[in-house]
Amino acid sequence: MTLPPAHAPSRTAAFLEREERLGAHNYHPLPIVVERAEGAFVWDVDGRRYYDCLAAYSAVNQGHCHPRILAALHEQSRRATLVSRAFHNDQLGRFYEVLTGLTGFGRVLPMNTGAEAVETAIKAARKWGLEQKGIADGRAEIVVFDGNFHGRTTTIVGFSSEAQYRHGFGPFAPGFRRVPYGDAAAVAAAITPDTCAVLVEPIQGEAGIVVPPPGFLRQLRELCDRERVLLMADEIQSGLGRTGRLLCCEHDGVRPDVLILGKALSGGVYPVSAMLADSPVMDVFRPGDHGSTYGGNPLGAAVAVAALEALVADRMVENAAALGAHAFARLSRLVAPVVKEVRGKGLWIGIELHASAGGARRFCEALLRRGVLCKETHQHVIRLAPPLVITRPQLDEVLDAIEAVLTAG
Ligand SMILES: *Cc1c(COP(=O)(O)O)cnc(C)c1O
Repeated sequence: MTLPPAHAPSRTAAFLEREERLGAHNYHPLPIVVERAEGAFVWDVDGRRYYDCLAAYSAVNQGHCHPRILAALHEQSRRATLVSRAFHNDQLGRFYEVLTGLTGFGRVLPMNTGAEAVETAIKAARKWGLEQKGIADGRAEIVVFDGNFHGRTTTIVGFSSEAQYRHGFGPFAPGFRRVPYGDAAAVAAAITPDTCAVLVEPIQGEAGIVVPPPGFLRQLRELCDRERVLLMADEIQSGLGRTGRLLCCEHDGVRPDVLILGKALSGGVYPVSAMLADSPVMDVFRPGDHGSTYGGNPLGAAVAVAALEALVADRMVENAAALGAHAFARLSRLVAPVVKEVRGKGLWIGIELHASAGGARRFCEALLRRGVLCKETHQHVIRLAPPLVITRPQLDEVLDAIEAVLTAG
């Protein structure tokens, strides 16, 4: 006679085994298999519930499966999903209207992934340099920063300072000068008559939530104005409420010439990205210069409108500011010898551990066991970035877990 098992066997292992066997090994995920997600929570295939404190690298700022965004997805998916830009569609204009209305930029160029929007900005800057500044074709340079993360295309990884992102993937495109992040003097020294743009993250996310020194963005703005260089802000991760303002640049009262958005632009429902600029810059693109089969499709446009409306209607930006201040206050009071620094803005907090702590991964694994999903970044930093719909009692539960794990050593 065989007794039934005391509890149902874990289904997780079988899922992990199949992915391991059949997929490319270009990620190293935590061993949790998500089956369902809602708001600030995800549930795994064994029915366990977790707080999602990664929020898909800020793509899910609006919370998982936001009803307003899902309603737009369902509604639009029954009407039309993709017609290509060979024809107009009735959703695209509304998307432009909402996005320009919220950000104050004059024009939008819609793409799909973040890296594509960055590539679009690079093209815009180079052609602007040729047409508006008289830089010779093929000579334009863009200043970028150590620690940057702008995506994974060959051009973009070509100017990464991260050896692993580059190794084996060359040859790379020329035309980029990399300087230390936060160092305005180094930017000034790198600018030549051939410089068309400075490409910057207002806070570097993948580098470990690195906040530049106060005044840095303003200094960049002044430099770019003086030298007639475009300031291009990659707000794919820092934008759309994450830092407690709609755009992170707003903290410094800075308006870039080119704004790059992605991730939360569609609330994690469908890939939508965009490059925004005013007329003189955007006008470098003429029919046939640039495009994307899926870019600007009606399904993506409808989803993005709903994602932006949800952000505003549910006061998520304000919530990020208030709860971010609360989290920051609690973590700053935390006495844990493993913690070197707590930094960030809004609901985007990096907890950097001392090298002697042996890396952030084991703390993330301990948090996983307590029902909190965090992902380490750059080995020693725990990144805390929950959906902006998280409530204060929920956030306190997350902070309780983090404090327990960090004080346990
Ligand atoms: C995620 C990210 C990108 C790339 O976006 P993808 O959609 O993954 O291509 C670019 N820039 C920043 C700052 C990002 O965080």
